[in-house]
Amino acid sequence: MIVGRDVIEPVNSAETPERTPTVALSRGGESSVLTDSAFMRAAMAEAIAAERDGEVPVGAVIVREGEIVARGNNRVLRDSDPTAHAEVIAMRAAGKVFGNYRLEDCTLYTTLEPCAMCAGAILHARITRLVYSANDPKAGACGSVLSVMNHPQLNHKVQVDSGLIAEECGAILTDFFRKRRQAAR
Ligand SMILES: [Zn+2]
Repeated sequence: MIVGRDVIEPVNSAETPERTPTVALSRGGESSVLTDSAFMRAAMAEAIAAERDGEVPVGAVIVREGEIVARGNNRVLRDSDPTAHAEVIAMRAAGKVFGNYRLEDCTLYTTLEPCAMCAGAILHARITRLVYSANDPKAGACGSVLSVMNHPQLNHKVQVDSGLIAEECGAILTDFFRKRRQAAR
């Protein structure tokens, strides 16, 4: 799980303010796809954990230099907190790990397309790359409903990849809502 590290280390970010995510992510190919899948599965495990606690199953992990530095799952009900989305929880935890609200050189993996709030927070955190799984046709802010991420008038650009194991991550959500509807009958 150290894919990218040898690419990242020689780069001094102080000297390269224009640094783009391609520096760390240009490896491409099968190994990075496998690595992305492994991290998305870790995010999926977070989603399943959220469901166990009665929450809508969405999970996220944050990765830096090939290692998971923070995890989060949706906990809006448990915390009575409308902002306690998986991505926000993970970013708060990562901020504590680094002692810095800026999460540069980090990739955020999340099982569902981020909403407007989370997309905004991802921009504030200067996340380098976002990988999300299923599209959210109801609230997605990465193109489905809104395009907060990489809006042409916003400064910070995020590399966005989507659709990774989307069937599985989407199924967790659709199963959850189907069970909830059945329980309500
Ligand atoms: Zn959100």
